[in-house]
Amino acid sequence: MTTARSRTAPATGQAANPASVANEPYMSPRQMAHFRQLLQSQRAELSEDIERTIQEIQQDATTFADPNDRATQESDIAVELRNRDRERKLIKKITETIARIDAEDFGYCDGCGNEIGLRRLEARPTATLCIECKTVAEIREKQMGG
Ligand SMILES: [Zn+2]
Repeated sequence: MTTARSRTAPATGQAANPASVANEPYMSPRQMAHFRQLLQSQRAELSEDIERTIQEIQQDATTFADPNDRATQESDIAVELRNRDRERKLIKKITETIARIDAEDFGYCDGCGNEIGLRRLEARPTATLCIECKTVAEIREKQMGG
């Protein structure tokens, strides 16, 4: 049995971090595969989260008879629903990002076309803007009054 692992291991011995492979071109097939895997596991986690939230809400709904408890519970549910909405949007974004990886249109800023950078993508693989463009966009958003 041959080890597939030894083939991809870089001389530096830092295979775990995609940013640390020396002389590798930006968005190499290996990096693309890495980010796709990262996005897919994030999506799976979020889906499980949403599933669990729905079940919890359904279970809680029958638990409280006291009106005070119910008020607390209703605001809890409101928070949960907001979280779920945010998670749904993130799942959509993750799916779109995976599609961009498939189209080999991943890792470059939608604003200026520069590389977003491996470190930023590692922390936030759904990022579509480089840190400079993101900062400018956020300032603009604040000026518009959000
Ligand atoms: Zn940019």
